[in-house]
Amino acid sequence: HHSKLPNVGTTIFTVMSALANKHQALNLSQGFPNYPSSQKLNDLVTNAMNNGYNQYAPMAGNLDLRLAIANKYQLLYKSTYHPEKEITVTAGATQAIYTIISAFVRPNDEVIIFNPAYDCYEPAVEVNGGKTIPIQLSAPNYSVEWNEVASKITSKTKMIMINSPHNPSGTIWSKDDMLQLQKLTKNTNIIVLSDEVYEHIIFDGEAHQSACLFEDLKLRSFITASFGKTFHNTGWKIGYCCAPDYLMSEFRKVHQFNVFSVNHPAQKGIADYMQDAETYLGLNNFFQQKRDLFLNLIAKSRFKFTPSQGTYFQVLDYSQITDEHDVEFAKRLTKEFKIASIPLSVFNENGKDDKVLRFCFAKTDETLVKASEILCKI
Ligand code: PMP
Ligand code: GLN
Repeated sequence: HHSKLPNVGTTIFTVMSALANKHQALNLSQGFPNYPSSQKLNDLVTNAMNNGYNQYAPMAGNLDLRLAIANKYQLLYKSTYHPEKEITVTAGATQAIYTIISAFVRPNDEVIIFNPAYDCYEPAVEVNGGKTIPIQLSAPNYSVEWNEVASKITSKTKMIMINSPHNPSGTIWSKDDMLQLQKLTKNTNIIVLSDEVYEHIIFDGEAHQSACLFEDLKLRSFITASFGKTFHNTGWKIGYCCAPDYLMSEFRKVHQFNVFSVNHPAQKGIADYMQDAETYLGLNNFFQQKRDLFLNLIAKSRFKFTPSQGTYFQVLDYSQITDEHDVEFAKRLTKEFKIASIPLSVFNENGKDDKVLRFCFAKTDETLVKASEILCKI
């Protein structure tokens, strides 16, 4: 047998989007906007193409973009990342995550992940010979028992992967959660991989608790982010990671042979666009309005929910409707009711089924109205 990933099938995002297309269902499954990327940003990328940004970018990324990213960390978190040595532009957060894991995880190393976990984490650990140690979080709050985390840390723990705002649950970690993590990892060699792709999508006036805000955590953390989420263009696949020099230099040893560098005109266009901080600071309101519209419209449905605290996802509990398994129910809704969502059990290593489905509200208001009309009939 040649397979290094014998238990891995096709990602749920591909499966559900294909099913949505087949049945011409409203696709609120895979997370992507169904409205256009900003014209101004598109024009800036076109300008970059017309102004000669058509050959390889520097391996670590276009310098204007790394400077814009460094400025953002100063502005939002008063945190310094050196653009030359501590920031690398990647082909989306997915490549950053994979490359971080392959640069550090050795066979039999343990990587603690919180379930439900975004689906690229576990296979990336496994294909590199590592072992994931899942910690199960449960609906509706998905809160962390820090004693349990302490009990799972061993001499083999190489890395802890965290994700706030959290996909798929739409929950966020508090300052206290971050302090607990900092306390548990202090004086260890554990690397923290903080997936912050939804940092600019957080609601109700809450502040994003970036790993860079905590002095000791920052020294052991990679932070990953994705412009696809921030600038409504998931198809461009541009993201980045930042980390202290001693970690980033190891990351780049792998990155240079994994991808070398990523799409140059898109990087330059994004760098120019980010000169105006409103381009990313305005997102919270933009998505909070969409969340509120969606939740107001489905308030009278039979689905139960706690409002999403961040991300552009809302989980809905359907336990009052049926006791079907979530994967079966998600597929039936797509075929019979023409609305596609993502079942959460696929993000749990043990398959735990809390009877919740995830719906993406990065959609036009018109789509959200149509979706809510369907959901109210179920
Ligand atoms: N992490 C999380 C939590 C995500 O939701 C996503 C995108 N769905 C990614 C990473 C990957 O981001 P990208 O599309 O930039 O590769
Ligand atoms: N991140 C997106 C989501 O959670 C999906 C990305 C993908 O399809 N791989 O829906």
